Amino acid sequence: MKKVLLVILDGLGDKAINALNNRTPLEAAFTPNLDYMAENGISGLIQPFQFMDEKHPTSEGAHIGLFGYKDYFLGRGPYEAAGVNMPLYEGDIALRVNFATINDQRLITDRRAGRIKDTDELIKALSGIEIKGVKFDIKRSNGHRAVLVLRGNNLSSEITSNDPGSEGEFPLKIKSKDPLADFTAEVLNEYLDKAYDILNDLEFNKNRQVPANYLLLRGAGQFKKIFSFKEKYGLMAACIAGGGLYKGIAKMIGMDVIDIPLLTADTDTNLLNKFEGVERALQNYDFVFLHIKGTDVCSHDGRYEDKKKFIEEVDKYFKTLLNIKDLLIVVTADHSTPSELKEHSSDPVPILIYGNGKDEVSHFSEREAKDGKLGLFEGKDLMDKILSFSKE
Ligand code: ZN
Ligand code: ZN
Repeated sequence: MKKVLLVILDGLGDKAINALNNRTPLEAAFTPNLDYMAENGISGLIQPFQFMDEKHPTSEGAHIGLFGYKDYFLGRGPYEAAGVNMPLYEGDIALRVNFATINDQRLITDRRAGRIKDTDELIKALSGIEIKGVKFDIKRSNGHRAVLVLRGNNLSSEITSNDPGSEGEFPLKIKSKDPLADFTAEVLNEYLDKAYDILNDLEFNKNRQVPANYLLLRGAGQFKKIFSFKEKYGLMAACIAGGGLYKGIAKMIGMDVIDIPLLTADTDTNLLNKFEGVERALQNYDFVFLHIKGTDVCSHDGRYEDKKKFIEEVDKYFKTLLNIKDLLIVVTADHSTPSELKEHSSDPVPILIYGNGKDEVSHFSEREAKDGKLGLFEGKDLMDKILSFSKE
């Protein structure tokens, strides 16, 4: 039985770009170690998992698919809550929060409250609110983001968002999508009014040009306990990631999240700390999930040159892993994020598996991977492939 390192380069898949001589950022990047693994391993393409109602795969859906939990998706809120270490109990509702700005007419003027960085004062002012027996717990996340958890009886996550998605509009009323969610929608609307009154009166906000006086909520999900990765696959698993969402997903499926300093979920993350963490984790765990977000961040900004450079940077750190005995290294992506599109697409992503067998492919790239022995397969089948390669 080999140990497994699964590396997800978020949004790695891309399309040929003229300015890169008609190559993708991955093709244009100098990646001797990834290419070595492709040459001495086997390649293929994964069709990322996406839910029926999604236009393109999301990071959360695609990850849940890759880990084999697509039938147990809880909505994004609970993963975000787990990612910032909020305790969750059966039946709790969790939502993603943006601090936003509304004016005296209650029109949204800034959906991110001027990208406010420090929200501690706001969070403190909102602590301890209880409405009709429902407790509201809010905790800060990165920047203008936070997570809200509702605890009480008869709650449901079948509700709409209050975020109209653009500025110059009124926030929407939260509505129930199911009669069983009427109560949840009602207490949330009350909470939003109350939160506005509190935030708008804060001294802290009176000193700000762009007061963070409103909460935009989305991604409602209800927590329930699901069987762990260990129970499902018999593997002791650990996660190394900078982004709260990925740590949350890992935690919710029973992986241990390893705390490592200076990880940012961006290109300025400390890759050395990350890969040293991987080597340590491999001593104690059967399966290590390493998440790297910088690739997706560059794509969303259309910075394909930076994406190429970041891939080259990441490549260097694989070198020390190549000689670890009885280790299966799997490198792939959750979905494609074509840099010229600046958003996710449903295109397949390349995968390489190094450490058990080889095929004719000699470079790690979107184009070459399709000739690999693994062929094209669905994201939900990845764990079966990994398990069979780690056992042989
Ligand atoms: Zn992603
Ligand atoms: Zn993305």
